[in-house]
Amino acid sequence: MGQFPLTLSSFISQQPVGPSGSIGDFSCLLGQIGLVGKMIARDLRRAGLINILGTTGEVNVQGETVKKLDEIANETFLQAFRQSDLVCALASEEMEKPVLLPENWPQAQYMVLFDPLDGSSNTDCNMPMGAIFSIVKCAGKDRMPTEDDLVRKGTEQVAAGYLLFGSSTMLVYTVGQGVHGFTLEPGIGEYLLSHEQIRIPARGKVYGANEGNYQKWTTGTKKYLDHVKVQDKATGRPYSVRYSACLVADVHRILLGGGIYLYPGELDKPEGKLRLLYEANPLSWVVEQAGGKASTGTMRILDVEAKQLHQRVPLIIGSPSDVDDAEAFIQGRRM
Ligand code: MN
Ligand code: MN
Repeated sequence: MGQFPLTLSSFISQQPVGPSGSIGDFSCLLGQIGLVGKMIARDLRRAGLINILGTTGEVNVQGETVKKLDEIANETFLQAFRQSDLVCALASEEMEKPVLLPENWPQAQYMVLFDPLDGSSNTDCNMPMGAIFSIVKCAGKDRMPTEDDLVRKGTEQVAAGYLLFGSSTMLVYTVGQGVHGFTLEPGIGEYLLSHEQIRIPARGKVYGANEGNYQKWTTGTKKYLDHVKVQDKATGRPYSVRYSACLVADVHRILLGGGIYLYPGELDKPEGKLRLLYEANPLSWVVEQAGGKASTGTMRILDVEAKQLHQRVPLIIGSPSDVDDAEAFIQGRRM
């Protein structure tokens, strides 16, 4: 028998104490995320059998059609953290207003922002999906947080990561001491350490972008995309495109194998599509912690001033050399 596997909780308890929170707190918070992941994974596995595919007939605050599974996943997050005495506010891509939990305050000093089901257009065709979380601390102990207190810069996160529902279920997180990945072992219902201290390659050979939007892009973005399709002198091959319509799955591929993911700004929609607080900030911190970069095209994502809960931002994320190249084209420094 090989080495005895490390579970999520035993791994966290062995980590050095970080500057941003106690090991015990992180162990509980990530344990709840793990539980949410098991419940969503269970629902996704049976979705085609129990009539929870398709839409609810409603449109969310982002103007997107709500899938039944979006609602189920959102509710799972809410219920899991409502009963956690560490969390006093929750904000989700699927809810116009945050859920404040004054009954947990002041003991509860954390707030969780999440995208409960990322890539939910994939529900009906059995393709990968994910969930993204970002955890920040309350501003002060003297008053219960308000909606504005949730609107924070990416550098203020104390924990962030994602769940990936692919051929296996994974939990990937950072608390600012590198990035670690766990795979759910379904036989025992535990997350086991499978990817310790993930490092992204300095450059990759893969790009991910919804190129159906090509005509809506700026000249610089178009030129960068044209550039990655040119045959490389060393390999004789252009970059390969890998795009799943699930941001988490696409970023996960790039985190492990290198390359670049882009959801750029568009000519008539310079802010792009992705949400700063629920998607860009947590994924950017994860990728940076693995040695990668994340940019709007002109600045570091984690330095973007957060002004609104549902703020959107262009996202260019991945291997550092690839993101540098993309920025150079987008800013017109390379043609
Ligand atoms: Mn999403
Ligand atoms: Mn979503």
